[in-house]
Amino acid sequence: YGDYSQKIDYVFKVVLIGDSAVGKTQLLARFARNEFSIDSKATIGVEFQTKTLIIDQKTVKAQIWDTAGQERYRAVTSAYYRGAVGAMLVYDMTKRQSFDHMARWLEELRGHADKNIVIMLIGNKCDLGSLRAIPTEDAQEFAQRENLFFMETSALESTNVETAFFTILTEIYGIIS
Ligand code: GDP
Repeated sequence: YGDYSQKIDYVFKVVLIGDSAVGKTQLLARFARNEFSIDSKATIGVEFQTKTLIIDQKTVKAQIWDTAGQERYRAVTSAYYRGAVGAMLVYDMTKRQSFDHMARWLEELRGHADKNIVIMLIGNKCDLGSLRAIPTEDAQEFAQRENLFFMETSALESTNVETAFFTILTEIYGIIS
């Protein structure tokens, strides 16, 4: 820590996808900077953020890409997916529609990305438990059927955010190293 001259052993590109307003930008802000902002649209335009961590005594730079609002215009292009070794498929557990769209996003992802890409399904906003629209078991079942990792998170309360990123990065490391 504090040694910025450290050598980087691996750079892993991970893309965030899912409907608008599910919390992609805030998940990234929480992971990369341990921040959360209620008015997150200030961050529009940011392409990716990085965070360096140690996995198995190797220095791994995670380069996490956010659609930065582009998903509203169906403008997520193949450049976005290019070189990605991981993807987080994010829905808002209080919004049924955002979960129903996961199959479509997955199809889009599989059409563009490398076939060995590691994919994690994320049910975000678990702090809003009383408004839950998607039972954990439904998401688990979908994840199992589609061969995805699965986790419920809250960017607001910081629940499982580090764990989710660390899990996907560790899985990627296991495949690539
Ligand atoms: P994006 O469009 O998918 O990038 O979504 P944003 O990150 O911009 O979040 C959309 C809205 O949901 C914002 O008002 C956020 O403050 C809010 N939000 C994001 N994550 C959470 C969360 O974990 N819990 C709650 N309660 N709100 C969240």
